[in-house]
Amino acid sequence: MTYDRRAFIRHGAGALAGLWLAGSGRAFAQQAGAETIVFRNGVVLPVDAGFSQHAALAIRGNRVLAVGSNEAVVNAAGRGARIIDLEGRTVLPGFIEPHMHFALLAAFGHTEDVGPFKQPTFDACLKALRKVADNTGANDWIVARQFDPVLLEPSRELTTKELDEISRDRPIFVLNASGHIAYVNSKSLELAKITKDTPDPKGAEYGRYEDGSPNGVLYGVIAHLPVMLLNEAIVTRMETGIVDAGIEVGEQAATHGITTLCDMAAGAFGAEADIEAFEKMFAVGRMKARVRAYLFDGKAEEWDKAGAEPGYGDAFMRVSGWKMVVDGSNQGYTGRQREPYIGRDSKGIFYVEPKVLNDHVLKRAKQGWPLALHGNGDAAIDAILDSLENAQRQGVDIKSLRCRIEHCSILHDDQIARCKALGVGPSFLINHVHYWGHVMRDKVFGPKKVQLLDRCGAVEAAGLTWTMHTDAPVSPLGSLHKIRVAVARDLWKEPETVLAPQERIGVETAIRSITRDAAWLSHSENEIGSLEPGKLADLVLLESDPRKVEPRTISDIKVSQTWMDGKQVYGD
Ligand SMILES: [Zn+2]
Repeated sequence: MTYDRRAFIRHGAGALAGLWLAGSGRAFAQQAGAETIVFRNGVVLPVDAGFSQHAALAIRGNRVLAVGSNEAVVNAAGRGARIIDLEGRTVLPGFIEPHMHFALLAAFGHTEDVGPFKQPTFDACLKALRKVADNTGANDWIVARQFDPVLLEPSRELTTKELDEISRDRPIFVLNASGHIAYVNSKSLELAKITKDTPDPKGAEYGRYEDGSPNGVLYGVIAHLPVMLLNEAIVTRMETGIVDAGIEVGEQAATHGITTLCDMAAGAFGAEADIEAFEKMFAVGRMKARVRAYLFDGKAEEWDKAGAEPGYGDAFMRVSGWKMVVDGSNQGYTGRQREPYIGRDSKGIFYVEPKVLNDHVLKRAKQGWPLALHGNGDAAIDAILDSLENAQRQGVDIKSLRCRIEHCSILHDDQIARCKALGVGPSFLINHVHYWGHVMRDKVFGPKKVQLLDRCGAVEAAGLTWTMHTDAPVSPLGSLHKIRVAVARDLWKEPETVLAPQERIGVETAIRSITRDAAWLSHSENEIGSLEPGKLADLVLLESDPRKVEPRTISDIKVSQTWMDGKQVYGD
């Protein structure tokens, strides 16, 4: 299967087709008379198959022209080329963020971060919320994000008790770092008409006090989304403001050297309208990072009605796959496990029962969709592998779809072997190790099972193609930080502890996983992921070579410049 073919979303195809052609004109035409630029006197790492190293690189228009020695590249570039002296800086392919949430970043990115990275105690968080309330208009919602009780000591949730003290007459909405849970005050519950007598929605739960009245904790997107959507400012941002908000996300990405963002719940709010919004971001010419969209299964009906197909789009915005969520979050105790969590009876939650999952996976795999399946707990991963093996038995060539397991947090040796046989690529939320590692060890899994967390070393040794993500806004955007964590596996709360040291990998392997291999797993390897001649000129200039610094300082390396599609989009 190739994704260079044209595929259209049938409904409204006229308007979309126009943009597709405009986009493809920019992306694919060999730009006649385009400027040639030589970058020389540096460390150029094109991340080709052999991880070669060179001194220079030339681009022409939006494509890589040559890599090699200073002399060879200057010769290849010919007369009239613009010369940029790298002065020893390192050049890498633009980083790919293979799993993030565009709409959440766009809708909430501007709201106050009251999470533990900014506010380390419960009281500090309350104080920050009070400040947000003071700075919010009298008729506006009080909104914040990133609250994460499991990282607080002692662990404690926000309920109506605390939030009503901040405001009784204005609604409050605080989003959990995972995006799966929200905390609201009594005013929000009143507006949403959630009372003691309201039954829990299917697949979600309202937190309750002993007398059955709601305590303001809304577990599951299905529980909190209707409340979130009562806030007109957020809805406006999602509808009319999404293009500008998305361009802001692209700007943030560029500061980190990220030139491609994979949206792992594309269309979760507006289905087709969200895809059109991506196209508008590029049509206005200010979008600084490419988008690869994985369509959110929750909108399956709309996608079917629209006739969505994999591969739709162009090199700037492409529909790359289909996203399904099989369980919850491990640190939220909702990832589905083989054995109960330590000190609890619960094994977590299947968002989709395995039997239903089998049917969904078979249907979408038969249609040719590359599947990205969210599985955190080992039992969820078992169910995912079962469903893919079932589809394979029914005649689908699963290997050709390059399916991915998103997060893939707890992985046993037997599961690695099954991934290998199916050509399935793990995509790790590697910051789980750094920020949540101590919690995973002490409160979630215990010292033995935590050895199975984010097994970069093991999947690399087994020869799998795999990648790493931030799940932003779950953890902050940033690719150098991912490299640092994969190489050092040091803990935020215990700087001297290395979690599961056997799973550490080398710097080159970590770089490859978020460039070349991320491109392959996003069905874009013909366009991006390495700086080989003919590929798109997406690149990042770093002040230092990540291979030459102390691993824990890799995240401190300064991004000097970012280039996307042959144009500088960040830096001096
Ligand atoms: Zn996610």
